[in-house]
Amino acid sequence: MSLTVLRFPHPALRYPAVPIKVTDEVRQLVKDMARLMRESNGIGLAAPQIGYPWRLFVCNPRNDRPEGEELVFVNPVLTPSVRHGSCLLEEGCLSIPGLYRKVSRPRVIDISWQDLDGNEHKTQYGGWTARVIQHEYAHLLGELFIDLIPSDPDIQQRLQFLVDEYALGRASGAIPEEHVIEESLKQLVERINHVA
Ligand SMILES: [Zn+2]
Repeated sequence: MSLTVLRFPHPALRYPAVPIKVTDEVRQLVKDMARLMRESNGIGLAAPQIGYPWRLFVCNPRNDRPEGEELVFVNPVLTPSVRHGSCLLEEGCLSIPGLYRKVSRPRVIDISWQDLDGNEHKTQYGGWTARVIQHEYAHLLGELFIDLIPSDPDIQQRLQFLVDEYALGRASGAIPEEHVIEESLKQLVERINHVA
């Protein structure tokens, strides 16, 4: 399967992801996502970034996990630990290339999720791993890190470049019409909801 990382302002990035059942298709998708993340020099990739509105992301926060041993979160539910406060850390995003900014998020989180065998897990994470997980989790809600920072001329210029790039992709036919994208997202939601 050939996947690409969708870039801002692709509408799939704003489409809320739905809970899924773990199927062979999902297991294969995770393998493909992990490969794409590595090839893109990323440390996290959420399914909406490749056009799948499914609650699923992979990450390798410290870039030290061997291939096939990336962290995989299926149907995650994240709760910030309020008593540990927040911290500022620099973030970037494969869907918004060329933009890095300090973002404030909770320092510690609790997260429950399923693995690819359908087993349930619950763990507390702090530090950089908690940060990467929160960034990826936000993708499942259709949220991007630029939503959390005040805009400035550099950000506006970068986003405008991506908007122009998207318009060119649309004009050349490389990016489908809006209603075609919408239909494809709806079909993916339908398909995963009707797996036996
Ligand atoms: Zn991202």
